[in-house]
Amino acid sequence: MKDFLLFFVLIFIVLGCKNEPKKTSEVKTNEFAIVIHGGAGTILKKNMTPEKEQAYKTKLEEAIKVGYDILKNGGSSMDAVEKTIHVMENSPLFNAGKGAVFTNEETNELDASIMTGNDLNAGAVAGVKDVKNPISLARKIMENSPHVMLSGKGASVFAKEKGLEIVNPSYFYTENRFNSLQRVKEKMKAELDHDGKTAFYDAEIKDSKFGTVGCVALDKNGNITAGTSTGGITNKRWNRIGDSPIIGAGTYANNKTCGVSSTGWGEYFIRLNVAHDISALMEYKNLSLKDATKEVIQQKLTKIGGDGGVIAIDKNGNMVFEFNTAGMYRASMNDKGELGVKIYKE
Ligand code: ASP
Repeated sequence: MKDFLLFFVLIFIVLGCKNEPKKTSEVKTNEFAIVIHGGAGTILKKNMTPEKEQAYKTKLEEAIKVGYDILKNGGSSMDAVEKTIHVMENSPLFNAGKGAVFTNEETNELDASIMTGNDLNAGAVAGVKDVKNPISLARKIMENSPHVMLSGKGASVFAKEKGLEIVNPSYFYTENRFNSLQRVKEKMKAELDHDGKTAFYDAEIKDSKFGTVGCVALDKNGNITAGTSTGGITNKRWNRIGDSPIIGAGTYANNKTCGVSSTGWGEYFIRLNVAHDISALMEYKNLSLKDATKEVIQQKLTKIGGDGGVIAIDKNGNMVFEFNTAGMYRASMNDKGELGVKIYKE
């Protein structure tokens, strides 16, 4: 009788397990996938011309297709992320590489980072002034140095030694960004005159978009890579460094959970360790990627007054965009080659 009962209990358990629906986060959605951003911020349709809108969309499409082709042909997510970011770094439209914003001293200081999810390896660079593609320097630091992060002049010396393309700092001059700096300086002066306080970044941040670029990709081998590249924030001073080159804040990848690239007001992203926090919520609390990004961006970040967003892919190829700003330049491609390019909130 006892054995008989045990038999039924076992059958019940087996059948029960079989019928238990799989959590969406456990289902493989895409064999490979790629997402990119070109910055988040006060991007409003009313401030855009159709030509400008089209120019952004065209560049986002061009960039993501480079990475998509690499993934489709069995290439690594590392190559896909690096080459996709090159397209955006080489365009004056985005605040990275060629389109980097200006510092208070009228120079350009570039930050970037990259991380691979299979081995938790990472490379980052902060405050370089003459390296054409900082994302490649971040990769070289990861692959060819014993360090994770290099900065300033030393980083340039390393870049030269490794044969990366060095440019005259004037390469990063764009009229548009230079004029933005002058406008911010004017605004800050006006605020200073008004109540004698330093307006810090508020003048720029509240009225502008950020424009940093980022890419996250999952390849056919299940490896996730995330990368981010930026000129930082207009009018930055004192060799200010934001979240973009900080592993865990601006960039994070872990094959057990997800890959994340951030954009927004860096000081807040550093304080919350945004990219890693999303991964940690998935790992320790078993949250889905969607819920984890929502929690961090819409709850935690918003609560302390930070603006911005993230792009992310989980180990099953689910893609997420989450931001608390009016818009975010963004695009995605799944393993069927379906492309989505968006700018505003929907
Ligand atoms: N997060 C960047 C920084 O604070 C700015 C941006 O995303 O555009 O440097």
